[in-house]
Amino acid sequence: MNDCTVPATAQLEEAIRSAARAAGFDLCGIAPVTPNSELEYFPQWLAAGHGGEMKYLESRNDSGALKRSSLGNAAPWAQSVVVCAINYNSERPYSTESKDKTRGWISRYAWSRTDYHDVVLQRLRALETKIKEFSGQDDFRSWSYVDTGPIVERVLAKYAGIGWQGKNTCVINQEMGSWLFLGVILTSLELTPDLPAPDRCGSCTRCLDACPTNAFIGPYKLDATRCISYLTIEKRGDIPGELRAGMGNHLFGCDICQDVCPWNRGASVTQSAEFQPRNELVNPALEWLAEMSQEKFRTTFKASPIKRAKYSGLRRNAAVAMGNSANRKFIPQLKKLSQDEDANVAEHARWALEQLE
Ligand code: SF4
Ligand code: SF4
Repeated sequence: MNDCTVPATAQLEEAIRSAARAAGFDLCGIAPVTPNSELEYFPQWLAAGHGGEMKYLESRNDSGALKRSSLGNAAPWAQSVVVCAINYNSERPYSTESKDKTRGWISRYAWSRTDYHDVVLQRLRALETKIKEFSGQDDFRSWSYVDTGPIVERVLAKYAGIGWQGKNTCVINQEMGSWLFLGVILTSLELTPDLPAPDRCGSCTRCLDACPTNAFIGPYKLDATRCISYLTIEKRGDIPGELRAGMGNHLFGCDICQDVCPWNRGASVTQSAEFQPRNELVNPALEWLAEMSQEKFRTTFKASPIKRAKYSGLRRNAAVAMGNSANRKFIPQLKKLSQDEDANVAEHARWALEQLE
């Protein structure tokens, strides 16, 4: 991140960075609100159906313009964006190091006891209050978002100098890798932006080559409907048959294209107590999740992002993972699941039985 170049606001920007550190953020930068070339492709991407069932991506403003295709469409009043990040990495192994396919995989970001949305938003609110104080403006305006706003955080993170958008579409920081939760504050303050983070992917294509469902349309472009993260979390009902085998042992999300990234080798680990992993969620037993009652699901994942997959979705995913395990020990349990009252779970269990039998 560069030093401020406009004396009139230099102190203010430094105060914001310092307040971000005090609020518990590892990284903080300022992005301009000018149009981003990365978003020009968004309407075409959406029209091609790559967003699948994520209808919220299609939200439009009163003029009918796609909000996510330009910050000006979503928040024309905003003058600058404060982008913050928290490292959530832990010392646990990567999915690519886990050889036991009779156990499942939950994405690294979902291992903790708390939902990161709540933790990051709480810290953003503290910072937002400080920025308002610093501004001294009665008509100061701001919005804070953690994943929920009509904006594309990873593009703003690039222009705030937090990290470049890798060919795997994740934000990568030179020191912290890509294990980052992002939070943004749109503000009505005119602040001097940081320099964009330069792309350091070079000629590497590890992430593109490693994806088991061929979800990349090309470098920097993802067909979400083929991505295991989408299939295990966002997709309701039937998972397309041709993608099930590629899902391997994934139950919730997928880390493969981050695990193979050289910038994540030796990435630093989080200092946040809230993001320490729960042992039972690292490489969990498939039987545990497949047999879980609805009440147990509710209490176990009450404050976890895993609840987004829903009870039906998580058991469906466990059945698919059993089918991909090549281990016949799951046959009795799959036979039971194939008679499940949830038709979705039952159908995926029958598919899994076919794979094992
Ligand atoms: S998260 Fe997994 S499925 Fe999705 S693009 Fe990356 S490697 Fe492919
Ligand atoms: S694996 Fe290579 S190409 Fe992919 S994001 Fe990392 S550095 Fe970039």
